[in-house]
Amino acid sequence: MLEVRALTTAYQGLTAISDVSLDVREGEIVLVAGANGAGKSTLLKSITGMERAQAGTVSFLGARIERMPAHRITAAGIAFVPENRRLFPRLSVRDTLRLGSYLHRRDPQRDAPLGVVFDIFPRLAERLDQRAETLSGGEQQMLAIGRALMTRPRLLLLDEPSQGIMPKLVSEILGAVEKIRAGGVSIILVEQRIKQSIKVSDRYYLLKNGAVVSSGSADNMEGSGDLEAAYLS
Ligand code: ATP
Repeated sequence: MLEVRALTTAYQGLTAISDVSLDVREGEIVLVAGANGAGKSTLLKSITGMERAQAGTVSFLGARIERMPAHRITAAGIAFVPENRRLFPRLSVRDTLRLGSYLHRRDPQRDAPLGVVFDIFPRLAERLDQRAETLSGGEQQMLAIGRALMTRPRLLLLDEPSQGIMPKLVSEILGAVEKIRAGGVSIILVEQRIKQSIKVSDRYYLLKNGAVVSSGSADNMEGSGDLEAAYLS
């Protein structure tokens, strides 16, 4: 469903990702791993129109999207949960989720995905009137993912969802990722906690200095030296 080809993005002339190609098939969880500064966030931002790639193409469900503005990419079915979650601190859980469905504001069924969100994150349903800033780190991550699901994506991009979260909640978040996939949403998962996240993934891409240095099925990565290489680099 997603075909990234030879994507290159630079900041003020400094190349952050170079010649990156990646595929996501329907129903897959694809792990993008790599050390700090490897270019993982830049790759996600270049796919979602938050950064403009200098070269390369991105096709989604058969349409070219690399020149589309971010809001149109969201409307096309790609939702992005950025690294720092980007929640409005004073907004309640209810209003944050409602903001996610703004795209469907003229649809009487605008809030239909709420059922799915509450099924995956029952805790959000218990905290509808709580302000985002008063939620725990894990709950804020759930809210950011919930908001993304309200856009009704076909593909969800998650940038380090386990960052700043208690170890106990990490497996809960990864379990949620599996549930979201079971609901028909494909996923690109950027993670540094490779050992845990490779278990829920189908395939992986390993980035180093802005380039893909290895890729393959998750089973292969678990048993190979790539894992070690990713930690050491
Ligand atoms: P991390 O795991 O630390 O988030 P990452 O793999 O997501 O890292 P990126 O954030 O994509 O890596 O950064 C890739 C490179 O691009 C780094 O060298 C970084 O300093 C640089 N970079 C990222 N964002 C910008 C920016 N807005 N302006 C200039 N350089 C940037």
